[in-house]
Amino acid sequence: MALFTEESLQYLEKTTPTLLGSAPWNSLFGPGEKVLVSGIYRCEGCGDEITSNKGDPFPPQNTHQHPGVFDSKVQWRLIVETQTKG
Ligand SMILES: [Zn+2]
Repeated sequence: MALFTEESLQYLEKTTPTLLGSAPWNSLFGPGEKVLVSGIYRCEGCGDEITSNKGDPFPPQNTHQHPGVFDSKVQWRLIVETQTKG
């Protein structure tokens, strides 16, 4: 689970996805798919978290392994979107 402190909480803002902006929040992304928004992603299968940058591919299937979970697919869900300039 992503961590923050009382002090770093000031840099987090709760968002309510709009119809146009809900896609990255309500989608699951597979290995090698292109990252739509930079941020922290959580694997639905094992709970592992990664940071991924917009435009990069998600880790390929052979890179991310579920420790102890063999029968679930790797699917990444956006949990924190970073606001990256440029
Ligand atoms: Zn996993």
